[in-house]
Amino acid sequence: MTISRWLDQSDSHNRHFDAVIVGAGIAGLSTAYWLERQQPGIKIALIEKNRVGFGASGRNAGFVTCGSTEHFIKLQEDFGLDEAVQIWKFSEENHRLLAEHVIQDEGASLDYRKTGSCTVAPSEERWQVYRETAKVMRAQGLDVTEVTPKQMQDDYGVTGFQGGIQYSGDGFIHPIKLLGRLQSQLKAQIFEGTEVYKIANDGGSVRLVTDRGVFFAGQAFLTLNAYLPLVMRSFESWVTPGRGQILMTEPLPDFVKGPCYLTKHLCYFRQLPTGHLLIGGFRNLDREVENTYADQTTDVIQNALFDFVKSHFKHGPQAKIAYQWSGLMGFSTDGQMILGPAKGFENVHVMAGCSGHGMGLSFHAAKTLVEGTANPEKIPPRLRLSRLEKN
Ligand SMILES: Cc1cc2nc3c(=O)[nH]c(=O)nc-3n(C[C@H](O)[C@H](O)[C@H](O)COP(=O)(O)OP(=O)(O)OC[C@H]3O[C@@H](n4cnc5c(N)ncnc54)[C@H](O)[C@@H]3O)c2cc1C
Repeated sequence: MTISRWLDQSDSHNRHFDAVIVGAGIAGLSTAYWLERQQPGIKIALIEKNRVGFGASGRNAGFVTCGSTEHFIKLQEDFGLDEAVQIWKFSEENHRLLAEHVIQDEGASLDYRKTGSCTVAPSEERWQVYRETAKVMRAQGLDVTEVTPKQMQDDYGVTGFQGGIQYSGDGFIHPIKLLGRLQSQLKAQIFEGTEVYKIANDGGSVRLVTDRGVFFAGQAFLTLNAYLPLVMRSFESWVTPGRGQILMTEPLPDFVKGPCYLTKHLCYFRQLPTGHLLIGGFRNLDREVENTYADQTTDVIQNALFDFVKSHFKHGPQAKIAYQWSGLMGFSTDGQMILGPAKGFENVHVMAGCSGHGMGLSFHAAKTLVEGTANPEKIPPRLRLSRLEKN
């Protein structure tokens, strides 16, 4: 982003904080939470270009999941079994931490349910692979079970598939209500409608130039996910934007038990407690167009989502569209998050590249990032920027 001389008010205010966090999505709020727990009394500014949750955190499907069976297979292929299990368990711990620290006994008011999730097998061949994978996962202590086509129909309302693998640890939540709950636990001062466009070291502190004045901080945390390369160009090689689109129908009778992945189509769906059916995905139908920063829906993707609703769901033929929207994911080059110090800066830390899993990762990742500021060894090597620089 750039700022014109006429709009620049950076010489009008100087503010000083112990820590400044840039980006008020799930990652930024979680970082503030763990900083305040680690250092009670710390003075934090949370700077947000739009308003809290205006990025992917307020536009996602609300899956609090470890990922699909297909995701586990890919992790195993890319990193080996031990690492795949560690990555899965990192998300399990994320869910546990969210439940303990944020959701607590407010689950019902946050539209939170721990339902488990299901990955639907798109073909006989994939069904065999999934069943073998389920055995491997079970041997590693991950609670997965097989779901028959009949159960698929009864519990998830979809027809025409071979069966599925259900994992018990997952659930869903209303993303904005979750952020609201997290925000209510913070003392940090939140500056909405304020955009950071320049970051530099200034003596021992960090200087962040915004369109509404300059902020000085002992430490800065850039929790910008897909937007990180727009503020720090050096991340262009490691984080790329990818748009995701969602369609939500008017309420339908209750028929989908929990979050469901249909990875052949790269789509996912769940039903809200209100009966609204939410479906997202199909990026692969128009991948080049979807690799964009533009907040916009397209006919190609939205028609595919609605056709899928009409043809595969029990109550699909009667469905009517209620909402259509898009949001921006930030993909790292190996699909894993990037946590740790920003190269070339002092006391500047980043969290980015949550891909499609920020709700399933960020709260735990923020804890890891905060612990890692004092002790970098606490950040697992697979999440450090250095692992990408080697390739
Ligand atoms: C359609 C869709 C569906 C998804 N579904 C799921 C799901 O079901 N489960 C799941 O786990 N994950 C899902 N994800 C991914 C998940 O939403 C993200 O990984 C997560 O929200 C990222 O959180 P964040 O806080 O890192 O980034 P964001 O929520 O994107 O927050 C970054 C913030 O930075 C602000 N900002 C940008 N530039 C500046 C600047 N210069 N100065 C100040 N502020 C700035 C933005 O306005 C934004 O609010 C989905 C994503 C999309 C797009």
